Amino acid sequence: KRVHATQPKLRLDDIYVAVKTTARFHKTRLALLLDTWISRTKAHTFIFTDKEDEELSSKGYNMVVTGCQSDHSQQALSCKMSVEYDGFMASSKRWFCHVDDDNYVNPEGLLSLLSTFPQEGDIYVGKPSLDKPITAHELLDRNKTVNVRFWFATGGAGFCLSRRLAEKMSPWASGPHFERTSARIRLPDDCTVGFIVEKMLGVAMVHCPLFHSHLENLLLISQRSLPQQVTLSYGMFENKMNSIEVKGSFSKEEDPSRFKTVHCILYPSTSWCPPVT
Ligand code: UDP
Ligand code: MN
Repeated sequence: KRVHATQPKLRLDDIYVAVKTTARFHKTRLALLLDTWISRTKAHTFIFTDKEDEELSSKGYNMVVTGCQSDHSQQALSCKMSVEYDGFMASSKRWFCHVDDDNYVNPEGLLSLLSTFPQEGDIYVGKPSLDKPITAHELLDRNKTVNVRFWFATGGAGFCLSRRLAEKMSPWASGPHFERTSARIRLPDDCTVGFIVEKMLGVAMVHCPLFHSHLENLLLISQRSLPQQVTLSYGMFENKMNSIEVKGSFSKEEDPSRFKTVHCILYPSTSWCPPVT
């Protein structure tokens, strides 16, 4: 009899991937993800949105209608994150990862990264959005506040939590608690996750350069490093498209986000990718 029960090797479908979107982005942003990386992770990817979409549900995608307000307010976004968290907790998956609908997730890169961690550890991994910890003014009773400093992973680059850590977060993150915690520090959902992990639980975030949001210069990512990258993004910055630079099958006009081109580099046998010569 072995004293240390070893966990079976982590598999891609042990990872619960939550994608945050909104009805007006289903045909634009979300469709691009469904055609690319979600085609490889469909069974364990959960799409959190604000309106039923018969067409997508009938195609077998896991759609979750949150019932949250559909604006971009701090409260609405915290509401969505709390529904994502509860969805993960009700599943039996080993890792929770959150991404936005303008993220490309590299499935093999994600699996390799998460496989490097102790699977029974308390892990919170992502990319900090600032080069120093954020300062929050935590509300105490009698309208007093106290400054608290902590790191958080920017939601727009995606981040992951191990099951063991997610379970410990429950008093501040489950059901109505997440929105309350968010209101207590008056900061958005991604900052709230950092606050719970670092300040309530005393667990340090793991800073990882393989997650990317469109707030950074995406031109700096080399094509050679693609197989290792975990997430990518795209978006407008100072009226110009900020996207990664890759050479391949589609022009910038056909593929402004570069996600189709990336997908054909990582999965060249995809039906709609140009034939490999
Ligand atoms: N989003 C949302 N409701 C909204 C607007 C945006 O749920 O009313 C989601 C959107 O689908 C995306 C994330 O919030 O997953 C971030 O939105 P966006 O990329 O437009 O803004 P950013 O914060 O990156 O500038
Ligand atoms: Mn964005």
